[in-house]
Amino acid sequence: MRPNVAIIGAGFGGLCMAIQLEKAGVRSYTIFEKGDNVGGTWRDNTYPGAGCDIPSHLYSFSFERYSSWTRRYAAQPEILSYLEGCADKYGLRPHLRLNTAVTSATFDESLGKWRVRTADEEELFDVVVSAVGQLNRPQLPDIPGMSAFDGASFHSARWDHSVDLAGRRVAVIGNGSSAAQFIPKVAEVAGHLDVFQRTPNWVIPKPEAAFGPRMRTAFRLVPFLQRVYREWSYRYAEHTLYPALAGGWTKDLLPKHALEHLRAQVPDPLLRAKLTPDYPLGCKRVVVDSGFYPALTRPDVDVVTDRIVQILPEGVETAAGLREADVIVYATGFETSGFLSSIEVTGREGRHLAEEWKDGAEAYLGIAVPRFPNLFMLYGPNTNLGHNSIVFMLECQVRYIMGCLAHLTSRGPMEVRPEAMATWRQSVDKAMEGMVWQAGCTSWYKNAAGRVTGNWPGSASAYRRITRAPRPEAFHFAR
Ligand code: NAP
Repeated sequence: MRPNVAIIGAGFGGLCMAIQLEKAGVRSYTIFEKGDNVGGTWRDNTYPGAGCDIPSHLYSFSFERYSSWTRRYAAQPEILSYLEGCADKYGLRPHLRLNTAVTSATFDESLGKWRVRTADEEELFDVVVSAVGQLNRPQLPDIPGMSAFDGASFHSARWDHSVDLAGRRVAVIGNGSSAAQFIPKVAEVAGHLDVFQRTPNWVIPKPEAAFGPRMRTAFRLVPFLQRVYREWSYRYAEHTLYPALAGGWTKDLLPKHALEHLRAQVPDPLLRAKLTPDYPLGCKRVVVDSGFYPALTRPDVDVVTDRIVQILPEGVETAAGLREADVIVYATGFETSGFLSSIEVTGREGRHLAEEWKDGAEAYLGIAVPRFPNLFMLYGPNTNLGHNSIVFMLECQVRYIMGCLAHLTSRGPMEVRPEAMATWRQSVDKAMEGMVWQAGCTSWYKNAAGRVTGNWPGSASAYRRITRAPRPEAFHFAR
């Protein structure tokens, strides 16, 4: 039996899944994509300066090395072009349904198949693989008066390139990784820029480097060099960055490094005080950028820490008064704790996934949920990282799911056992105890109840070990 697979989403995860199906000779799959192109977050985020703060040789597929990265940290157009190239090279396009959002997926127990519904039709699939990502639903803040604003306003992940910022008064609400990347670019053209900061972030420098033609040729001609560079980047993240989050040997060194970076880049002690975090490094996602602080020191840029009261037609009113603006950019992040919430997912016994997850999303290995047979997730609950490449995690998950598909062919729909789920939950809770995300800060890693549902508390290597192959005893099989 060749399973018929529905993949939801054509970002890094969905493409990885499709490529591995192709490699295994499984051609019976469909990729549903709500957008008009592949690329996921790298299609959506086109703000000026968008790029990745994980080295590109690591933030790419291990099986599809790319020797032509022009920078150590690639910009968004290059990453999108890499993903488009993957879709072409592996012949995924005929399987793509662009501009087609999945609205619901319902497991039909009598057929042992999933009914996948879009706006226009319903189709049956043996397997559903969700690859919708964690950072795909922009979150606008709930500030009174937002709709009354007279100027242009948009979210950073829906950048309105028709709005000319040259010489204008721009207000940016939020100062996370996205804002840190576009603020230097906006500051260069805006007449005046107000950065509204609610909580300062920890910022470490980004050691940018261009890969010139010689370096790229070397990477192309000597694949070993590329392998070594990728491996070095991976090990650096595992052995230097991860311990800083897990109470290990770098937990004091990295904050020291970040504060030195702040001191070196921000001479004004008042501004420095505003930008100094009062919670442990890593509790919120660390910003990796070398251009952010210098932009904030410009005479035409203000960091505003007064509480925002409301948006008025002429600008942003804070507790200290009105800050006039022509344009407001909401760099306020994403709705992250809902995971698959944009799709109505119904499993066995009519169970709704949203209801199962009302106290917090959870999945065995971040991949499978009891009572939802043959539903697998990529980048599901507790699989985000604060230190290494998500593409690595996606590859682990895809390898695991491919292992599951091999079982399916002979034993029918498979469903993770509640006991396996309970053991998994306990092990995640225990590992979470030592992690910095539990410290007193707010972050998108946590759900409304304060439970960390986003992040994987172990190292990336530990995740690879536990997802190497499915353990059949963790599942119930129909046959
Ligand atoms: P984010 O990190 O969630 O930051 C949202 C910002 O908006 C925070 O500064 C937050 O303040 C602020 N905010 C939210 N609601 C607000 C309100 N009502 N009033 C005032 N301020 C408000 O979002 P993001 O910058 O888009 O980044 C999201 C994630 O995407 C990152 O953490 C990262 O994982 C990923 N990302 C990665 C890269 C990369 O290079 N790999 C680049 C960009 C993004 P508080 O901190 O006070 O809540």
